[in-house]
Amino acid sequence: MPVYFLGEEENGGSPIKIGVAKNIEARKRNLQTGNPLELRLLGWIETADEFGLETRLKNELKAVRSRGEWFNIEPADILPFLVRAGRDGFVAKSADAFLITGYDSDAIPEYLGVWEWADLEIDECCPFCGCLCGMHFQEASQMHYCIRRDTLTNFPEFDRDCEEPNDEKAGRSLREKSE
Ligand SMILES: [Zn+2]
Repeated sequence: MPVYFLGEEENGGSPIKIGVAKNIEARKRNLQTGNPLELRLLGWIETADEFGLETRLKNELKAVRSRGEWFNIEPADILPFLVRAGRDGFVAKSADAFLITGYDSDAIPEYLGVWEWADLEIDECCPFCGCLCGMHFQEASQMHYCIRRDTLTNFPEFDRDCEEPNDEKAGRSLREKSE
């Protein structure tokens, strides 16, 4: 069962509640009923030892405990826990990780990103499922591979522009063109 991290939306995702729920969305709706502040799912960890993991996390954070299962930490503070869980760690990803939010001074597009509280490269975090397994370039297929979902993608939306997010080469050629 997953261990989830829920934050209060109005306060930048803090404080954060840690708990265990089979159905995180249903738990969130239940908690929302008694809470005037909008709650937001920040991430979760899949585990077969959910209560053991929950206890360990709460022990690690006991110095910053607020009340009950709530802790005075920021969303970025849970990232090390998610990273530690590897392919079992997930961020609750942004609705559209590939939304272009602007262009930097070298005309390189900047994307919304998979998680708003940290800059996660695609090899650190899969932009499709939010898994901290990341995506890895597979030479044989020349495609990106998500370990967790066992799927390959060639980022069709970027092929149109012959460009991939976080691709150094694409960045360089764009930069050369603009010079
Ligand atoms: Zn994935």
